[in-house]
Amino acid sequence: MYDSHIHLDQYHEDEMNIMLSQIEGVIAVATDLDSSKRLLDLKRQYDINIAAGFHPEQAVLKESELIKLVDWIRQNQTELCAIGEIGLPQYLRREGKVEDEAAYIHILETLIHLASELKLPVVLHAVYADAAIALQLLSKYNVRGHFHWFKAKDELIHEVIEAGHFISVTPDVLWNAKTRRVVELTPLNQLMIETDGPWPHTGFDKCDIQNQLSAIIGEIAVIKQMTRNEVSIQMGHNTRSFYHLEAHDESR
Ligand SMILES: [Zn+2]
Repeated sequence: MYDSHIHLDQYHEDEMNIMLSQIEGVIAVATDLDSSKRLLDLKRQYDINIAAGFHPEQAVLKESELIKLVDWIRQNQTELCAIGEIGLPQYLRREGKVEDEAAYIHILETLIHLASELKLPVVLHAVYADAAIALQLLSKYNVRGHFHWFKAKDELIHEVIEAGHFISVTPDVLWNAKTRRVVELTPLNQLMIETDGPWPHTGFDKCDIQNQLSAIIGEIAVIKQMTRNEVSIQMGHNTRSFYHLEAHDESR
């Protein structure tokens, strides 16, 4: 099993060893430049795949900081399997904390443009109506997107699927009707599974990513009326193909 979206740099190192030994691999995503640098350090110690980016649910980056991030990504592009996590501040906006929406869109567009130039996919935090803006930018720059922990109206879910992008779901598929709907509508060959760890999912330990991933697979199998094994094999295949990864030990 692969965890297709985890904030590995937010765990203690003694936790990482145990977590990483339980599963086949991870896509470790960054929240900012410091987080990107920390992930690169971790990649030198552990067998992990990393992305670099700027998480949108925080104070907006100044142009000079954005340039530093872009330069760092260019310099370290061969170490990266994607640019991410990037996107738009859906939850900050709901709290009334977004003053300059255009600044977030500018960051997103700059990083999608960079992904196009470097021929990397992007990891997107773009839920609900924000997905429409992300879709336009992906199409403008011809970039492949992974819409992580995705939720949206049916029409937008269809648009994401029709454009050939990938979608991942977390353990909230066990109880959240919106996530279950995403699984119903998304073809199995465009789905991935993730923990978004260390996000606290009710009933799970943040370090027990193996159990979280296995619970998601079980629930997808129920929704899609397939066997766990069929789902599990396809999830592994999807993550490897989307991120261009080498196959590891399939039994884990
Ligand atoms: Zn995340």
